[in-house]
This record gives sequence, C-alpha cells and structure tokens, in this order.
Amino acid sequence: MAAAAAPAIPPLTVLKGVGPALAARLQRLGIHDVRDLLLHAPLRYEDRSTLTPIAAARPGAKVLIEGEVVLTDVTGKRRPILVGCLQDGSGVIELRFFNFTAALRNRLVPGSRWRCYGEVKVSSHGKEMIHPELEPAGGDTPGILPVYPTTAGLSQRTLRRLVQQALALLADGPDWLPILPSCCLPGEIAMSLPRALAALHRPPSEPAEETPPWRRRLAFEELLVHQLAFGRQNRLRAQGKAPPLPAKPELLARFFERLPFRLTQAQYRAFQEIQQDLAAPRPMGRLLQGDVGSGKTVVAALAALCAWGGGWQCALMAPTELLAEQHHDTWRTWLEPLGVRLGLLTGRDGAGRGSVREALAAGEIDVVVGTHALFQKDVAFARLGLVIVDEQHRFGVDQRLALKAKAQGWAPHYLVMTATPIPRTLAMLRYGDLELSVIDELPPGRKPVETRVMSDARRPDLIARLRDWIGGGRQAYWVCTLIESSDSLAAEAAEETARRLEAELPGVRIGLVHGRMKGGAKDTVMAAFKAGEIDLLVATTVIEVGVDVPNAGLMVIENAERLGLAQLHQLRGRVGRGPGQSYCILLYHPPLSAMARRRLDYLRRCHDGFQLAEKDLELRGPGEVLGTRQSGALRFKMADPVRDRALLPQVGEAARWMEREAPEHIPRLLDFWLSRGDRYVDV
Ligand code: ADP
Ligand code: MG
Repeated sequence: MAAAAAPAIPPLTVLKGVGPALAARLQRLGIHDVRDLLLHAPLRYEDRSTLTPIAAARPGAKVLIEGEVVLTDVTGKRRPILVGCLQDGSGVIELRFFNFTAALRNRLVPGSRWRCYGEVKVSSHGKEMIHPELEPAGGDTPGILPVYPTTAGLSQRTLRRLVQQALALLADGPDWLPILPSCCLPGEIAMSLPRALAALHRPPSEPAEETPPWRRRLAFEELLVHQLAFGRQNRLRAQGKAPPLPAKPELLARFFERLPFRLTQAQYRAFQEIQQDLAAPRPMGRLLQGDVGSGKTVVAALAALCAWGGGWQCALMAPTELLAEQHHDTWRTWLEPLGVRLGLLTGRDGAGRGSVREALAAGEIDVVVGTHALFQKDVAFARLGLVIVDEQHRFGVDQRLALKAKAQGWAPHYLVMTATPIPRTLAMLRYGDLELSVIDELPPGRKPVETRVMSDARRPDLIARLRDWIGGGRQAYWVCTLIESSDSLAAEAAEETARRLEAELPGVRIGLVHGRMKGGAKDTVMAAFKAGEIDLLVATTVIEVGVDVPNAGLMVIENAERLGLAQLHQLRGRVGRGPGQSYCILLYHPPLSAMARRRLDYLRRCHDGFQLAEKDLELRGPGEVLGTRQSGALRFKMADPVRDRALLPQVGEAARWMEREAPEHIPRLLDFWLSRGDRYVDV
C-alpha cells in the first residue's frame, strides 16, 4: 500500500488532447499515467537533424528533405494516387500517396513548400518517396526523433507530442518525482532523473556511445529499484511468523546411518545454511542451486526431516508426474524407516487422490510429494511448515504464492531447488528475494561425459556404433531439437526420426516421448525406459528435467548447434549417472558457423554448468539462460541485464546504502518505477 501522503503521479488527462479514446489507446501500451509515458522508452531513433539535398539522397536511406511542389497530379486506374513533384534546387523527387484526404490534396499544390521524411526509392520515373511524413517547410529541423512502440490508431507524432508535454511537467521539479540521493549514483552517470529522461526522449545528438551515460543512468535506477523491491519483500517475509524447525541431531544420525553414501562438503555446507534458517521463527526463503547430479534431493530430504522432527508437514513439488514419483520413491527409502509417513499427490491418481487429501488435512501424512496438483483448492494441510519446489523455473510466481497461502496463519519455510545454473549476476536479479546456497561439487567418482562434435554426414558410423552399444545391453537417448516452432512440429520431427531409426536399427526397441503426448502416456514410456524395456528413447527436449536412468550412458543430440549451452548441458546431465564411461554426441548439420563451432567446442571441454551459463549469457542473452518462460520475469524498461551487468555490483552497494541511510526515499522510488503488473511484490 502506498503511503497516503505520497503525492499522486498526474493522470494522463492533465495532458492536452487526452480524452477517453486516446487514454484507452495509451492503456493498451501499458501507459496509465504521466509516469508510464515518461518511462515509455523508444525502440530506436531517427536522425532528422540535417536536411539532405534531393540529389544526395541515396535510395534505401531514410532522409529529411525540403523543397517546393512544382507539379501535382492524381493518377491511378482503379484507386486514385496523389503524386506531387518536389524540387529543392539540387534535384526532383516524386511524393506518392495511395491514401489521401481531400485536405491534403488541397494543400499539396504547386508553390507550396514542404519538409518530408521517408525512405528514398527509385522507380522508372526516378526518385520517389511513398507516404512521406509531411510538415510545412521552414524552422529548425526536428533533430533526433524517437520511434516508440505503439498500437493501432496511435501515431508516432501523437506519442511524441504527449511525451514532450510530460517532459515539460518535469521542468518545475514536481514533488511526485522520486529523488535518488546523488551519492548513490556512480560519478560518470551522475545526472538528474529529468535530465536523463529528457535525453531518452530527445537525445542531444546521434549517441556517440552505444550506451550513453543517460541510458546507463536510467538503467542504474531501474536495477536499483528492482533490488530495493526484493529488499522490501525480504523484510516483509522477515516479519512473517514461521515455526522454528531446528534439526534434531539424533534424527540426523539415524538418517545418515542408513544413507549409502556420505554427503559431499558442498552438500553439507548447503544443509548447514538451510538448517540455520529453519531453526529461526521467520520463514526461510532460500534457493538451492546445484548442477545436474550434484545431489540436491538428499539435502532437501534433510530439510524435510527437520520439519518432521518439529511436528510440521512438508510438501515437495516436482514439475512432472514422473519426477514426483521418482522423488517419492527415493524419499520413501530414506525417510520411511525413520517413521515418516509419505504420500504422493499427482493429477492422475483418481480414487487414491481423495484419501491422500483427507490424510493431509487430518495430519496423517507428514511429507507429501506431488505436482501442480498440490496447488488445487481442495488440498488443505493440517500443519504445513515447509514447502520445497524442485526446478522452480518450471513454475510461475503466482503458483508459488498460492501454495504459501495454504498454510493458514503461518508462513511456511520455502526452499527452491534448481539445476539451471544461473550466473551470479542474473541470480541476483531473478532470485534477489531468496538467499542462495550453492552445491558446487559433484559426488565423488563421477566421470565427465565424453562429448563429441560430429557432422550428421557421419550418421551411418553413428548408427553402427549405436547398434553395438545397445547390443552390449546398454541404453541410449536420441534427442531431436527443433527451435522456434510449435510442440506439434517438434512432435512430428521426433516421430519421423523414430521411424527412420526403426528402419536403420531393426530389432532395437525404440520408444518415443514428446511434448504433445498426454502426461500419462509420456510417463508410461519413461517408466518402460527406466525398467529397461526400451533400448533407445527418442525424445524432444522434454526429457531435460531430472530423469534418472543410470544404464543409459549414451546420448545423441541432433542439431545441437541450435540449442543454448546451458540447455545442452542439462540434456547431457541425463547421462553419466551410472558406472562406466558415458558419451554425448553433438550432431550438427553442416555448414557450421565459426561461432557455433566455438560454442560446441566449449561444451565439449567444459563440464561446469555455471561457466556454461556465463558463456551463454555472453553469447546469447538472458532469455536463453533463464528459459523463454522466465525471461518475462526480467523484462526491464531501461535496463538490459547483459549490457548493464557491469553496473550490478554498484547497484547492490547503492541498495544497501539506501536501506541504511535513506530509507525515506525508497517508497516513492518503487512507486514510480514499478508498473502495475510488478506490484505483486506487495502481496
Ligand atoms: P540433482 O542435484 O540433479 O537433483 P540428485 O539429487 O538426483 O541430483 O542426485 C544424483 C545422484 O547422485 C542420485 O542417484 C543420488 O543418490 C546420488 N548422490 C547424491 N549425493 C551423493 C553423494 N554425496 N555421494 C554419492 N552419491 C550421491
Ligand atoms: Mg533433481
């Protein structure tokens, strides 16, 4: 809730010419008030600072010209076309209008002088401009003009006019503008917000640098706000009450006694961090990050044990039914012998579902493992104390809140596990509301997956090798990739590949999974693969997450050059889980660009998910690293997490400084920058 005293940001109606119809169009762009308009960043700029002589106007270029109309005509057989010849002393150009009003026809007459902006084309008649923007000639040139994202019925000219009005409101130092203490800003970008905004909408000249100071200034403030919003969320969480769930040494000892392996240093350290949070009467919010196969599941089980020891329930949520079942099986072997009562709740176990729900509500199940089904309204918990989410990047924020709300009165502790290695810089932006624990070490004895890059021209060799491999009693994956296309196209491609492989590998039992299959059908195939009833699994990238089939030690990835490094690494993480050497073959379709070769080669040599993610970030941008669905969570107006990442350390410092020294400035800063959709942080 905004403080009552905060001065209101002016509504759009203070601007001249804004009535209900225009306001409605602006709203379609997410512009609800003057602030939104000021933060409506141009897509690009057009240079109209100089007049180009017609003779010097090159075809294809967008130029500003000025001259006198010497001749007009209306031609065209079916539809009238208005043509005007414009002359400037250096040459002549034809202006052509396929749509024109009577008013334009009456004004565009010989002797009139105009300034036109548009793209120069060449026809059999010579140079022409189709539908140029027109203005009476004379006066100053407009300079560099912004081009905004817009919507039907809203012209650039209108947008520019409104933005200029909004900027004029800033001239009087209005009290609704946030003030960033100047000592927060690094020296080279120290300038006032009005100045930076003015430059954004009216850059002084063609920006000499790619990211001029005013742009960095705006990015800095936006990133700072993002950081401060997380800080506020953390404080809100810290005010919540959660049941303290300290670890019971005796329980841990019994757990470790039965565990067939010893925790790695990194696992142990992560658990220590979690344990400290759980022991406090405030809700934990922690992200457990660890590469595929680093052993997050056992660390999470230890957290569940703490909840149980304290007499509270724990819910573990997985992204697919198969993974939920897999976790349920593993946790049963670890936890049931200690007396923990486990339940499985997925979407599909019809009759069983009712009894699990009742048992949960009655407190007769201590740990429930499930899928989205855990979120459904009819699911109630007796005493939910800990929520664990596996592979957070598959879930939305709203779902996460819904589950939290299930624990009435108490805020449960919250642990997220992800194998998506997010570079530190991005983690701060994406998960700034969570503390971070990292498992940066693999269990001992793992052999790195031997990775090879191979042209698909060598497919026959590869098929022969697959035949031998499977003949030796081992299993394999064949991953089909298709980028920028629908699930259905990907499914078709996978079906086609499966048919082809069936013909090439007679006698080999081939299974197929793709995103268009119903969950049940998909899981049946996966279960058969796990049970060794399928030798070769043809799949789309749906198998990316968490499946564990140790006997499958060979993976072929088709068109590997199309995928991001982090995603390839995730896929590769499916193999290398059993004893013996395992292999990943990256098939590419020649010719391979130099860049693509470098990337695949990097993957061949590097087995560290974090390093790969940094590389991806550098080469392909944040959407790639976070997955398309998540990139929305990082949509900034001014900042670009990759371009501006050098600013991040200073942003962090500034946020801490403001929280300590100038907290009174924070509310207005957040209020100004956060659009309506982002205000969920208030929930
Ligand atoms: P992920 O972090 O990808 O979820 P898992 O928790 O599934 O990894 O662990 C991968 C495999 O490693 C599992 O079979 C698990 O039992 C095993 N494992 C986990 N921790 C250790 C350890 N410290 N020593 C040996 N094996 C381990
Ligand atoms: Mg896992």
